Amino acid sequence: MKTIAVDLGGSSVKLGVVADGVLIDSAKINCRRGQEFQAVAPEIEVVCKKWQRSYGIDGLGIAFPSLVDPVEKRVLGHNNKFPDGVDFPFADWAKERLGLPAVLENDANAAALGEWGYGAAQGTGDFALMILGTGIGIAAVMEGRLVRGRHYQAGNMFGHIPLKRGGRPCRACPGTGCAEAQASTWALKDMAADSSIDSPLKQEPDLNFKLLRQYYDKGDALARELFQECCGYWANCLIGLAYAYDPEVLVLSGGVLNWGPELPECLFQEVDRRVWTPWGKIQYRLAKNPEHSVLLGLHYAYHRRLEGK
Ligand SMILES: [Zn+2]
Repeated sequence: MKTIAVDLGGSSVKLGVVADGVLIDSAKINCRRGQEFQAVAPEIEVVCKKWQRSYGIDGLGIAFPSLVDPVEKRVLGHNNKFPDGVDFPFADWAKERLGLPAVLENDANAAALGEWGYGAAQGTGDFALMILGTGIGIAAVMEGRLVRGRHYQAGNMFGHIPLKRGGRPCRACPGTGCAEAQASTWALKDMAADSSIDSPLKQEPDLNFKLLRQYYDKGDALARELFQECCGYWANCLIGLAYAYDPEVLVLSGGVLNWGPELPECLFQEVDRRVWTPWGKIQYRLAKNPEHSVLLGLHYAYHRRLEGK
């Protein structure tokens, strides 16, 4: 079975062809925050139609970076990402424009499904995943079921639990001081501005972890402070996940892992120092291909939907 996966991300749309759990082709369309889905839809259609001719495609999976009702295939809220996505009829669009049946998923849930079906979480029914991209995506599988909740909100808002009273306002939720506002790719510029350490890093117009790593390698004190701060907040999230969902495995994914092995080492050491799990030790695993978790998960979601799961 072959599916096309479309990951509507904060700064780009990633697309892929997945055949029986293996990514066999991929493409990327740049977009900007707040762009309408219907502004990028024609470009998505062009890529999909080319792949339909080349590969023979059975179905389509779409991941949206916000809360999603996967049963009704509706986006429930947009958080300034693809604002016209709310109530947009994605399944009808896929049927009319591409002639394909479609599934719609929250992007973090899709990443969890990808790692569950084909990656780091294979073989376990109890794990939580944190995907570090533009923001912080979280999903959990508990006792063999993807945690969704009555309003499709459970788990997915974990990066928005307030952690610092009087912290920075969040761009993705109405709150302040949540993990995403305190330590994420989009928050880096604000984190740098709020620090008392002086550094040319503060003048960078588009700060991301790739750039931060370059400063870090040169021994920049601010880059080192921001890295430690991120590890601290992300460890708080992982400890919260350990207590909320009682996982045997914690999985890390997302493009920020391109930082290198030092990032998960720092993070997991911090968790180990502070977490209390009298039953034993949580296993830590990394996504095999951090940037492919969502695409593979959409394939798995489509497969599961065919099986009525
Ligand atoms: Zn937030």
